Amino acid sequence: MSTVETVQIRQPSDMKLLEKMERTYLNIPMEAIIKQDVLRQGINFSSESLSLDKDYKAKDYFIFSFDHMPLSDMKKGEDKNAPEEIRITGGHFDLKSTVISTRNNSNSPYIVKLINNKPHLFLENTDLGGLEFPPIPSWYKHKTSSGKLPGEIAPVIEWGYLIYLTVFRNCQYFGKEEECAFCDINHNYRQQKNAGRPYTGVKDVEDILEVLSWIAEEDSIAKVYTITGGSVLTTLKKKKEVDFYLEYPRAIESKFPGRWMGKLVSQAFEKEDCKQFKNAGIQVYHPNYEVWDKALFEKICPGKSSWIGRDTWIRRIVESAEIFGPSYVIPNFVGGVELSEPYGFKTVKEAVDSTSEGLDFFMSKGIMPRFTAWCPEPYTTLGTQAGPPLEYFCELLTSWKQIFEKYNLPVPPGYGEPGVGKAVFSVSAFMDVIGYKGRI
Ligand code: SF4
Repeated sequence: MSTVETVQIRQPSDMKLLEKMERTYLNIPMEAIIKQDVLRQGINFSSESLSLDKDYKAKDYFIFSFDHMPLSDMKKGEDKNAPEEIRITGGHFDLKSTVISTRNNSNSPYIVKLINNKPHLFLENTDLGGLEFPPIPSWYKHKTSSGKLPGEIAPVIEWGYLIYLTVFRNCQYFGKEEECAFCDINHNYRQQKNAGRPYTGVKDVEDILEVLSWIAEEDSIAKVYTITGGSVLTTLKKKKEVDFYLEYPRAIESKFPGRWMGKLVSQAFEKEDCKQFKNAGIQVYHPNYEVWDKALFEKICPGKSSWIGRDTWIRRIVESAEIFGPSYVIPNFVGGVELSEPYGFKTVKEAVDSTSEGLDFFMSKGIMPRFTAWCPEPYTTLGTQAGPPLEYFCELLTSWKQIFEKYNLPVPPGYGEPGVGKAVFSVSAFMDVIGYKGRI
């Protein structure tokens, strides 16, 4: 029995709320509003929807849990059978197809039920649309010579577009004094191991190259790979952080030069280190700043704050644009942690004003901040608290779009096609709002 409570939700959703948001936020598409709300509240899969023929790709737990509940509380088999993402189309709002990452939450008002043996998403008793689950890539059937499954070594997300290589599944920022307060990387590693799953802590380059060789041969959907993992403060496999992470793109690019676009999600590095990654073949750099407000950065990212410091972090982001090109520097922030308790802002306006200041700062330099939607995972420092209200995400998307358009920035590289009905980025709707002309 888990000792962790499932997350409580501030402002539970109902149709009245969605319809109000539809009338209020005319400059962002309804698809984006629903996507943010489903991410905010998670999905409650009915038992019958999880017992369909398993011809879809289930969650690979590619880095964090991204669930609102512990694995041990998933009594309906969500841990093994929930799909990585859903793609919703049609329904009450006549949605264009929209890809949304799965965050399991058995208390969510968003419920997947079957109609004529096909999954649909319901809110209250309203059918919000028919669902597809992502296909299993053909190469998932192989096994590496070391006996590992492809979905463990090089899973794909974003409907097959992105190969996600979490090469180090822990972080050396450890414990409440150092770990980012919203992050469950270390805890998720432990819960996956406790559940008896194969879950490799440090991935071998050879395993990755073997899986990539099948992808190179059999797959035409994956276009991008991301190399990431926790921070390395001392050494890992006797290497310093930069040398540890450099080994992967160097090996990939020497075996498959230019086959996919390489991205790196890591700490903010000095220019000399960035140059090494660029020379190794990395094109897009994500030195995530997580939260803009100075006091909140110190509280929510205590390890980053004490080991590197906010001013240095920001300087390094700005300087890395000289190496990668500004629009190829895409630092992420965790949308919603500005409202977390006990240190966060008390109002949506303060939170969005603060984050918009950060957006303007980076976008004025051509740098391309993006966001993911905070998932209040149980085993984190922030714990089982209510997430932000839906207004927050509608305001944030509106602001992100306005500033993006003000500086006339290009479509962010490495995310596929933008726009309603096309975007595949599944953990926030920033790609879905690009180019939207509004409605009356
Ligand atoms: S740096 Fe922070 S967000 Fe990144 S893995 Fe470590 S604790 Fe998690």
